[in-house]
Amino acid sequence: MNNQPSKISTTDLEASPAKLFFLGQVMEECFFPFPSINKDEAETLRIVIDSMDKLLRDKDEEFKLHDTKAEQPVEFLQSLKELGLFGTIIPEEFGGINLSNTGYARVIQQASYYDASVALTLGAHSSIGMKGLLLFGSEQQKKRYLPQLASGDLIAGFCLTEPGAGSDAASIKTTATKQSDGTWVISGEKIWTTNGPIADFFTVFARTEGEQGKITAFIVEKEFAGVSIGNKENKMGIRGSATSSVYFDNVIIPESNVLGEEGKGFKIAMAILNNGRTGLGGGCVGGMKRAIRLASEYAANRKQFGRSISEFGLVKEKIAQMTVNCFAAESTIAMVGSYIDSGRKDYSVEAAISKVFVTEALWSAANEALQIAGGTGYMKELPYEQLVRDSRINMIFEGTSEILRLYIALSGLKDAGEYLKEIGKSVGNIFNDPIKGFGVLSGYAVKRLSRATSLGHERTKGAHSVLQAEVAVFDAYIIALAGSVETLLRAHQKDIIERQFLMKRIADVVIDIFVGLCVISRVSSMIEQKSVELCKNEIDIAHIFTQQAKRRMNQNLRRLERHEDKQMEDLSDYIVKRGGYEWDTI
Ligand SMILES: Cc1cc2nc3c(=O)[nH]c(=O)nc-3n(C[C@H](O)[C@H](O)[C@H](O)COP(=O)(O)OP(=O)(O)OC[C@H]3O[C@@H](n4cnc5c(N)ncnc54)[C@H](O)[C@@H]3O)c2cc1C
Repeated sequence: MNNQPSKISTTDLEASPAKLFFLGQVMEECFFPFPSINKDEAETLRIVIDSMDKLLRDKDEEFKLHDTKAEQPVEFLQSLKELGLFGTIIPEEFGGINLSNTGYARVIQQASYYDASVALTLGAHSSIGMKGLLLFGSEQQKKRYLPQLASGDLIAGFCLTEPGAGSDAASIKTTATKQSDGTWVISGEKIWTTNGPIADFFTVFARTEGEQGKITAFIVEKEFAGVSIGNKENKMGIRGSATSSVYFDNVIIPESNVLGEEGKGFKIAMAILNNGRTGLGGGCVGGMKRAIRLASEYAANRKQFGRSISEFGLVKEKIAQMTVNCFAAESTIAMVGSYIDSGRKDYSVEAAISKVFVTEALWSAANEALQIAGGTGYMKELPYEQLVRDSRINMIFEGTSEILRLYIALSGLKDAGEYLKEIGKSVGNIFNDPIKGFGVLSGYAVKRLSRATSLGHERTKGAHSVLQAEVAVFDAYIIALAGSVETLLRAHQKDIIERQFLMKRIADVVIDIFVGLCVISRVSSMIEQKSVELCKNEIDIAHIFTQQAKRRMNQNLRRLERHEDKQMEDLSDYIVKRGGYEWDTI
């Protein structure tokens, strides 16, 4: 009997490149060469970005007013509409610009470079508000709504979250009851709907068959009787963007406004969020570019101890780190965007990776930009404090960093578990016979290890030769990850779901590998286009990212075995039970 694991077909559009890391495999064709935007779209993008620059440049004072007054004036929204910015991803036949996912992320980046709230108003409309209609709408629904959504005559919002259902979105309580005439009646409350106060079109998720029932998605117009909008929320950041509750009081919905298949609403919600992540990610890249510009200008001009502060190592460290992270973030968003644009079916883990990495990179960049500006950075007159406030939300909405890390780890572990179980079946169910099974799995691990070390091993080949040392690091950690995954699954089996500390470390290793390969791929393509000599900075970026990732991955994998997780959990339980900190020095 052949008990060697066969390699999963890596040309399959169904396969997820990041999930395959868990099995020690790299889908090279998913990373190399680095994706590029086609010429026609690049041309269109240049025109769109140029017109955005003309509209948004030199409006810092105006954006500050949007922040203090917590409002984007109607005239300002009108100017965004006139540029076609509400129709960027809508097909031309419906009056839109028909940008790809990658192109759209670039547009949101440009908006965010000037103001995060502008990016969010546009993003909540396109990335989530009407994305369901594009992905799942019938021709009739598209004809009816898309032209007005493209022109901005209708602005869209996405209504999933409820008071009792945040991260646990599947627990929503808003109900939808089918009437004998085929219409539906929706009742419930949705909270924190971005664009709520200015939207006319809502994608709403409701439970269709009682408490344990299925979720269905609906298109709900603000004008439908029984829809009402709550007060505008008073938020910490992104204050120009309007957020509110949306209430549904026995709202009658025509049968024709069911979005997608009845009962498939949860899948639809997740598909929308996954597909929309590159928009949010593009916005974060724009914020980072702004932070880097502000920080480098400030550092060059501010003098202390008789020198420009940009000459001090600890300031250089911050600017270099922001730059490495921004390059990595931008590369990752472009890669994930290309997966979506090329019709890859399973990109949810990669989209989650991009969201976690990019949102945290922006948070760090905003924080460091403020630190470089010192006390000046803390003052309201300057943009730093707003940049920090505006950046914070990204790690919370559209999936918190915690939930997405768990998702990354669990999705990969689940596939790896199933694959290992398959191997197990073929050799007599190893999981039921750990002693017999151990030998088989050891052989499997040894085989994989030999792939990593022997001359004929399947090394990732697409990288430029000057980046061989870098790519070898990720190759080695992919193998190490697969070994750790196997050990974890054997040790914890289904209980792994309760070991969140471990899953976080696995997710962080996967994030580093994925982002690292995106960086190496991009730098390789840049070298091909220019030359090694002309790409010194880019090669440095790849080197810095790889070495930093190596240290993090090493620590994360080591801490799967040696850690103080139990003590941490005990301590947290104690503090929560007590209701706060216990100690004092007096
Ligand atoms: C400004 C703003 C705009 C928003 N816009 C929209 C919108 O347009 N449409 C919409 O539907 N929603 C929107 N939301 C809601 C947003 O998506 C939710 O806030 C988010 O999903 C988190 O839910 P929650 O706030 O209820 O936090 P909770 O789910 O209560 O989580 C609280 C904390 O616990 C952690 N946590 C929860 N469960 C677990 C777990 N199983 N394991 C480990 N940690 C866990 C979380 O990571 C978080 O740190 C918006 C929110 C804000 C603040």
